[in-house]
Amino acid sequence: MTDFPAFSFSTVPHIVSESGAAGRLGEHIAQRFPDARRALLVTDPGFLRTGLVDAPAASLRTAGLTVEVYAQVMADPPETVVLEAVAAARKFRCDIVIGLGGGSSMDVAKLIAVLANSGQPISTIYGIGNVKGSRLPLVQIPTTAGTGSEVTNIAIVTTGATTKMGVVAPQLYADLALLDAELTLGLPSAVTAATGIDAMVHAIEAYTSKHKKNPLSDLLARQALALLSANLIPVCENGRNLAARQAMLLGALLAGQAFSNAPVAAVHALAYPIGGIFHVPHGLSNSLVLPHVLRFNAPEAAPLYAELAEIVVPAASGSLEARAEALAVAMQQIATVTGIERTLQQVGIQASDLDRLADEAMLQTRLLGNNPRTVTRTDARAIYAAAF
Ligand SMILES: [Zn+2]
Repeated sequence: MTDFPAFSFSTVPHIVSESGAAGRLGEHIAQRFPDARRALLVTDPGFLRTGLVDAPAASLRTAGLTVEVYAQVMADPPETVVLEAVAAARKFRCDIVIGLGGGSSMDVAKLIAVLANSGQPISTIYGIGNVKGSRLPLVQIPTTAGTGSEVTNIAIVTTGATTKMGVVAPQLYADLALLDAELTLGLPSAVTAATGIDAMVHAIEAYTSKHKKNPLSDLLARQALALLSANLIPVCENGRNLAARQAMLLGALLAGQAFSNAPVAAVHALAYPIGGIFHVPHGLSNSLVLPHVLRFNAPEAAPLYAELAEIVVPAASGSLEARAEALAVAMQQIATVTGIERTLQQVGIQASDLDRLADEAMLQTRLLGNNPRTVTRTDARAIYAAAF
């Protein structure tokens, strides 16, 4: 008899995966939110310049909604930007919030939705389960296949020079996530590679998460890895491959559903200081430490890594350890083939920075607690040295 430990699982109730769906956003909104009248589209200046906001905005107007675009989101959004966005939403009196962008835009959209009609000060929402009350209707439309933020209950805010804080609450799950590969066709190959590897890390870390791994997160992580590993190289070689782009978006969403319930661990814990101190993009930070964390974890996690190797490198054979190593090698090869940076030196980090990185990584106790193998400060320093 298989005895599963007790678990709970939450996700976004409605998902639409269809190329071109963003151009019919107004129809989707009218169908699901018939009372919505004033839509705030939340994005960043770079995505606004692509012109890809125009079609979804026009379709909302055709459906009878008044539309305002808030396009001041920046990467690793500071608290001041979140507060400005909330003020803009209040001034506009929006009654539905639509995140249209990468993880930062979707995270800001989540916080607008919970704060716009609430008197709760932002300083009191950080941490787990501290959001009070309900939120405005929330729709998420990702423009990168990576963060999975469209289906997670987490928003990350930069609260100091290099420090970030997370808001984790059930209210952050959107009402609708809409995947449209046409929005991702113009993404440069390096961004596609780094964000895609980030999504693969979400699946790998969910599958090996120490406490909350469960049958549903396992199923999602495996399907996510199958889609992501089959399509990542093709989309990097031909960014206009619409079917492969749609498969990447779906893979990133499934990985997001998995890690929102079975949280990520040491790869992310060690990646955060690289992003925080050196402003290396999140996906690339993860990719830099990934193979070295996999090798460090192998003494505890080899049986699970061997199961994932069957998906990513079906030809892998031999002992559990050999197949786990094949997974690490395969992930390194993806970084090599796509041409993204592979060492800390290549992103400007010096040998003298490794101690500070190790110190900061040890502060990520929430993430390190999910890791299949205990990470000491000495271990963290050695992993950075291996990645150097
Ligand atoms: Zn990530």
